[in-house]
Amino acid sequence: DLGQRSYPIHTGTGILADSALFAPALSKGPVAVVTDSNVAPLYLETLQKTLKALDKPSLSIILPAGEESKSLDNIQEIAGRLLSAGYGRDCTLCALGGGVVGDITGFAAAVYQRGVAYIQVPTTLLAMVDSSVGGKTGVNHPLGKNMIGAFYQPQAVIADTDTLDSLPEREFRSGLAEVIKYGLINDQGFFSWLEDHMDAVLAREPDALTKVIRHSCKDKADIVARDELEGGLRAILNLGHTFGHAIEAATGYGQYLHGEAVAIGMVMAADLSRRLDLIRESEQDRIYALVEATGLPTLAPALPVADYLGFMRVDKKAEGGRVRFILLRGIGSAVITGEVPPAAITQTLQAFM
Ligand code: NAD
Ligand code: ZN
Repeated sequence: DLGQRSYPIHTGTGILADSALFAPALSKGPVAVVTDSNVAPLYLETLQKTLKALDKPSLSIILPAGEESKSLDNIQEIAGRLLSAGYGRDCTLCALGGGVVGDITGFAAAVYQRGVAYIQVPTTLLAMVDSSVGGKTGVNHPLGKNMIGAFYQPQAVIADTDTLDSLPEREFRSGLAEVIKYGLINDQGFFSWLEDHMDAVLAREPDALTKVIRHSCKDKADIVARDELEGGLRAILNLGHTFGHAIEAATGYGQYLHGEAVAIGMVMAADLSRRLDLIRESEQDRIYALVEATGLPTLAPALPVADYLGFMRVDKKAEGGRVRFILLRGIGSAVITGEVPPAAITQTLQAFM
């Protein structure tokens, strides 16, 4: 079973307190909630109450907030806490937090005693629409991000939109980049809906958020289900990421949030698609306008083109030295290509600096 099993994705307001949603996802044994130092003071007590109502003994493991916590050292730390508490194979781990907490908790669940159950309780928009769905788990190695990990599916995803109230604006908008991406690669109707409702989304209206999360999860799950282990199709999820990763790397990580770099990357991918006559100028304009209306950046820092090209070649999507691009052949339809004239790539980079 390589994770073909399907699992429920619940989303809505107030569901962090809904014991009935958690009950079917829990194994016989005790629960360990893994969270971070920002999320713990906000939502840990609510979740602990929900578990207590189910008579579930639970312990809490609070990691320092931040990407640095996604380390093998913390896998060792989590395993140590579980072993000290006498947790066996019938326990359930519960990831309460953003993508960092979700990725490390999922990987801990994959390897602790050769695999225990886990639940994703995402609290960032990025985690709700992207990292909690698809079964990729893992930690960073000093030599590379996400270089140690496993494909391992949760028992359930429980996304309470109320938790987004406390999310910093920049993090929220950054998560919307991946949302726009789903519309672009797979779902023209959803893209149009986003054009019409971006104000409600930015105001974090609960109904709009629920729609965004449901739609994004469905689009991602559909693509992943057709290609769980990344044979080919799943690569379209990387729209904007070849340019985006190069921007993140060229600026030394930290200047741009991931979603911000992806936003610039999507605008660049649209430009490249238009240069190659795959989309019309009017479509490129709509993409640019939606990214801009979301308050996401559309320009990359002015660095030598050769720097960006160098980082694109070392990106793991580069095969045999050739950079693989995800391009658009219309809004709602993506193509994977390895045959892009270098001059066009250079022109696109220069157009957005
Ligand atoms: P994150 O987990 O670091 O969360 C961002 C910040 O928001 C943190 O400071 C966190 O403490 C804080 N936070 C979380 N929830 C909050 C809330 N409700 N209110 C206030 N603050 C809150 O980052 P992220 O953007 O959620 O995730 C990024 C990680 O996800 C990266 O490590 C990336 O590699 C990974 N990722 C994984 C996948 C996948 O398929 N597994 C996909 C995309 C990204
Ligand atoms: Zn991404």
